[in-house]
Amino acid sequence: MNASLELKDVQTGYGLIQAVRGASFAVRRGSVTALLGNNGAGKSTLLKTVMGLIPGQPQKGEILLDGERINGMDTESIVRLGVSYVPENRAVFHQLSVQDNLIMGAHVRKDRRALKTDLERIYEFFPILADRVNQPAGTLSGGEQQMLAISRAMMSRPRLLLLDEPSLGLSPFLVRKIFHIIRIIRNQGVTILLVEQNVRKALAIADYALVMESGRLVSAGPSTDLKNDPRIKDFYLGLN
Ligand code: ATP
Repeated sequence: MNASLELKDVQTGYGLIQAVRGASFAVRRGSVTALLGNNGAGKSTLLKTVMGLIPGQPQKGEILLDGERINGMDTESIVRLGVSYVPENRAVFHQLSVQDNLIMGAHVRKDRRALKTDLERIYEFFPILADRVNQPAGTLSGGEQQMLAISRAMMSRPRLLLLDEPSLGLSPFLVRKIFHIIRIIRNQGVTILLVEQNVRKALAIADYALVMESGRLVSAGPSTDLKNDPRIKDFYLGLN
């Protein structure tokens, strides 16, 4: 398989708390792969570990980006290699303007001239951000902040985008919009690993899905298979 990201027996957590107890899976290049599971299953911890955000983690195992080992690298180097991350809490810089937030997202890039083109593309795509270029990001609504967070992550021109619960707390209209954006980003050739509570929407957009329970991977496969898996239906979709 043509893997963008591959995890081999990754164990990770916080000090003595082992949140993930040996996860092995691959994210196929160009795919949207959904990472599903209950609260506390270890999904966010996995994404943070891939980004090198938890000091000293993973305790064990290997994380490969296009075949190259990235565990043990600092976050900035991982971003430079082409991985971008949108955390669960959106984490935009509240005091900075919309434009400055976007420019921060491009700080690892050398091709400063292309920056202007990328900003224009984002404003064209999100007229709401264009209307608010000079406004502090903290004054935006939750949905607008999420659009800004995703746009900022795209400013580093990633090959792999990690999204943690992008639809959380948004209205159905904005959830549709965010999923539409995810589709467009995928169509640009970016591989996406998506942690989502909205299982129905996640399975609708994803090519593949992984299911975690209590720090372990319990299911993995094409999302069409998972949609028809009685356990998944019963537990996550409430269809049985
Ligand atoms: P959620 O949807 O609630 O974010 P999750 O699947 O992403 O769930 P994690 O946030 O990765 O789960 O949490 C996995 C485990 O690690 C949980 O038991 C949680 O309590 C613990 N945990 C998470 N963050 C920390 C932290 N900063 N320090 C200590 N333990 C933590």
